[in-house]
Amino acid sequence: MNLILLGPPGAGKGTQSAALVERYGIPQISTGDMLRVAVKEGSPMGVKAKSFMDAGALVPDDVVVGIVRERLEKEDCRNGFILDGFPRTVTQADALHGTLKEMGKDLDAVISLEVEVDALVERLTGRRICKVCGRGYHLAFDPPSVEGRCDQCGGELYQRDDDREETIRKRLAVYSEQTSPLIDYYRQRGLLISIDGMRDIAVVQSDIVAALRTS
Ligand SMILES: [Zn+2]
Repeated sequence: MNLILLGPPGAGKGTQSAALVERYGIPQISTGDMLRVAVKEGSPMGVKAKSFMDAGALVPDDVVVGIVRERLEKEDCRNGFILDGFPRTVTQADALHGTLKEMGKDLDAVISLEVEVDALVERLTGRRICKVCGRGYHLAFDPPSVEGRCDQCGGELYQRDDDREETIRKRLAVYSEQTSPLIDYYRQRGLLISIDGMRDIAVVQSDIVAALRTS
C-alpha cells in the first residue's frame, strides 16, 4: 500500500497515520525525519543535502527526491509506505511519480483529510498547557476543573504562541495555498480520496480503510 497523506496542521494526520502504520505494517515517512537520518547516516544524497544546509541554502528538489528514493528503497518499505509532508509542490509530485516508476512502484492513493477552517481554529485555539508539569488541556474537550489551573499540580495554564488564532489562520492559509494545486493534481490522476476529517478519530479511520479497500 503506497500512500500519501495530506492534511493541515491539527487535522489529526499524526493519529490517522499511526493507525494506518499499525493496520498495514508500513512505515510512515516524514520529510524532516528522512532528511535528518540521511544526513546523519552520510548517505550519498545525505552528503549532498548537508552541503546545501551548511551553506544555509534550501535543499533543492532533486536532492530531496533522491533522499525520498533512498528511503523508499529500504527493506521496511517493501510492503508500502505512507508519505507525510512530501510532496509539497506539483514539481515534487512529478518527480516522485518518475522515481516511483523507475523503482517499479506506483501510488495506490492520496488521502486528503478535509477540515473546515473555523472548526479547526476552534479545536486548536482551545489548547492550554500547564506551566509547571506540562500537562495539556482543551477548553472545550478536556477542561481543567478550576479555570486556568492544572488539575494535577495547580500550576498556571497558558496558551502557546503557535496556538493563537492569528498564527493558526496564517498557517492554514499557507497550507491551503501550497496544497490545493497538489490536490487538483492527484484528483486529475484519479488517486485522490477526500475524507471528512472533522469527526471522531475512529470514524475517520474506518472511512479511510473503507475507501482504500475500494480504490
Ligand atoms: Zn500541572
